[in-house]
Amino acid sequence: MKVGIIGAGQLARMMAMAAYPLGITCHCSANSTTDSAAGVSQLHTIDLCDDNNLKAFINNVDVITFENENVASTLLDKIALYAKQTQTAVYPNVKTIKIIQDRLLEKTTVNQLGIATTKFKAVNNLSELQQAINSVKLPCILKTRFLGYDGKGQYFIKTAQDAEKVWQLLMSAVDSPDEQHTCIVEQFVDFDYEVSMISTRGADGETVYYPLTRNTHRDGILRQSEAGIHLHSNLQQQAERYADELLTYFDYVGTLAIEFFVKSETLYVNELAPRVHNSGHWTIEGAATSQFENHIRAILRLPLGSTHTERPAIMLNCIGNMPPLNDILDLPDAHYHTYDKSPRPRRKLGHVTVVNPDKHVLIKLQQLVDG
Ligand code: AMP
Repeated sequence: MKVGIIGAGQLARMMAMAAYPLGITCHCSANSTTDSAAGVSQLHTIDLCDDNNLKAFINNVDVITFENENVASTLLDKIALYAKQTQTAVYPNVKTIKIIQDRLLEKTTVNQLGIATTKFKAVNNLSELQQAINSVKLPCILKTRFLGYDGKGQYFIKTAQDAEKVWQLLMSAVDSPDEQHTCIVEQFVDFDYEVSMISTRGADGETVYYPLTRNTHRDGILRQSEAGIHLHSNLQQQAERYADELLTYFDYVGTLAIEFFVKSETLYVNELAPRVHNSGHWTIEGAATSQFENHIRAILRLPLGSTHTERPAIMLNCIGNMPPLNDILDLPDAHYHTYDKSPRPRRKLGHVTVVNPDKHVLIKLQQLVDG
């Protein structure tokens, strides 16, 4: 069986690595021959905007999936069209990806299902921003509707006087004149902590849920994820219920990540990711079946695997540089993952996972990762 992945970064790489033992080959559409999935998958360095390339890519595989929701709407429409013509499945469906890639549509949909988000307002110009600040209250965050990730396209607003300055900053930073005016402003949540729910749904509706992962961000980038640890007891149940409602509403097939703020034992959705997620990387060593394998199983209509998590697992992202391999492997139950990417500030180059670490091992690992 063959899976076509739109994208060839580290998420495609880890999907391909999970697919390989099942006898499944991943074909990844790449920008360059050095993309992260090179070497573990069949790389297609093609321009997908060329219709012939796109048709041939789709025709060659049994199912199309995505490693990133930021795919142009016109390309998504063409993928849906050509896949229909060749009876190739597309999972998750294009309609869902379009909702999730737009912060406004995403949060509106979540609210319509009766699930709480932080208070937000659509903003298209400076005067709307000034009005929205009065409504959502200070402090707040201005976020671009599209293409924001790892804290990009986000501007903190502390006082009403900040509005004009922040709006100018946003306008000068965003490339596309169409997108620079479409934003949301949302209330800043003084949360207790952040968690994410990773779940996988099969085409028959069977759903498996991983234990909630507690996430720590720095400068808008995920640094650490901890799973299998003690959290308020009703949160897991609450998060599974929300996941179930969203997966059913989207008629979703594959792995979905939901990021939440936790405040006074209540969950508020921050954002969704229609794909495998950085906060689920610990599942490779920490769970009976990884989020990557379950995604592959789901989109190929194979039985889903157990998410059983025997012991706590902690994942640390390697941002900007990789720690020395020898030093990581010297620590008990530590696992090293490089994405084969060239170093750049703020770039995710790899991660390390440690299972059931004692305090000293964890501190040592954090020191190595922080350089
Ligand atoms: P995002 O790209 O929206 O997931 O934001 C990245 C990170 O910035 C989040 O995981 C939070 O740590 C922080 N953040 C984003 N939005 C808010 C908010 N409304 N209130 C507090 N922190 C936020």
